[in-house]
Amino acid sequence: MKLAILSRAPRAYSTQRLRAAAIDRGHNVKVLDTLRFAIDLSTDEPDLQFRGRRLSLYDAVIPRIGNSVTYYGTAVVRQFEQMDVYTPNTANGIANSRDKLRAMQILSRHGIAMPATTFVRNRADVIPAIERVGGAPVVIKLLEGTQGIGVILAPSIKVAEAIIETLQSTRQNVLIQRFVQESRGRDVRALVVGDRVVAAMRRTAKGDEFRSNVHRGGSVEKVDVDAEFERTAVRAAHIMGLKVAGVDMLEGDDGPLVMEVNSSPGLEGIETATKLDIAGAIVDYIDNQVAFPQIDVRER
Ligand code: ADP
Repeated sequence: MKLAILSRAPRAYSTQRLRAAAIDRGHNVKVLDTLRFAIDLSTDEPDLQFRGRRLSLYDAVIPRIGNSVTYYGTAVVRQFEQMDVYTPNTANGIANSRDKLRAMQILSRHGIAMPATTFVRNRADVIPAIERVGGAPVVIKLLEGTQGIGVILAPSIKVAEAIIETLQSTRQNVLIQRFVQESRGRDVRALVVGDRVVAAMRRTAKGDEFRSNVHRGGSVEKVDVDAEFERTAVRAAHIMGLKVAGVDMLEGDDGPLVMEVNSSPGLEGIETATKLDIAGAIVDYIDNQVAFPQIDVRER
C-alpha cells in the first residue's frame, strides 16, 4: 500500500519506527510534514496540495499530530477522510481526545469507569465539588498539562482551594479529581491497535511521588493486562474514534479507571519496556483495513 505518516518530527523515534516497519513490509511510505499541506476547497472533489503540488493518491495515512498543531492537523486529517483515504484515527477522535473535559464527558456518557471528576468555574462551587469527589486529599489538574506538570495532590481542602484560586486567576481551566490512593502511585498504559491491546506497561512513581510519569522519575515494566483492562482500553479508544491509542488507567479497587486516551502515543517507552514490535502491529492493522475495508468491529 501507499502510506503517508503525518508528522512534524521525521527524526522522532515513533516516526522512524513506523516508517521502518512499513518499509520492512514492502509498503511505499512517505513522512509528510503536517503543516506543508494546503487544503483546497474550491474544487468539486476534496483535494490536498503538498508543498505546492497536488498530492498523489494514498491508501492510508497515520496521523501523528502534536499538541501544538491540533487545529490545523485535524483539518488535514479530515480532508484525507473526505478523500476516502483510510485513517485509523479520525479527525474528530483526535480533537476529542485532546480536550480533557470533552474526552471525559464522552467517556462518562458511555459508561467508561473513571476517577470521580468535576469541573467548576466559580469559587463558591469549589468546596462542594471537592466534597462530591470524596474530599481531601484531592487531585487538581490543569486541562492543558502534560508529562505530569500541572497535576497536583492537595492534602487539605484549604490548600486545594488556594491552588484552584491561583490557577483560575491565571485563566487556567482546572479539574478536580478523586485521589485514587489504592493505585499506589502506579498506572497502566495500554497500547490499543484495532480491537486489541498489543502491549501494556505499568508505570510506578518514584519514592513518595504520586505521579508515575517517566519525566517525574517513574519506572516502567511490561505488564500483562487482564480481560477487564483490555476491554476497557479498547472500548475507550473506540468510543473516542481512535483505532490506535495509548489508554492510561489507574488500578482502582473495582477495576480500571480511565484517566486519558492519547491519540498519538509515543512508541519508544513502551517498545523498550515490552520489547514488542508495536510499529509493525500498527502498520499490519492498517494494511488489513485497507485490504478489507468492510471489516470494522466498532465496539464490543
Ligand atoms: P499527564 O497527562 O500530564 O501525564 P495525568 O493526568 O496522566 O497527567 O497524571 C499524571 C500522573 O499522576 C498519572 O500518571 C498518575 O500516576 C497520577 N495521577 C493522576 N491522576 C490521579 C488520580 N486521580 N489519583 C491518583 N493518581 C493520579
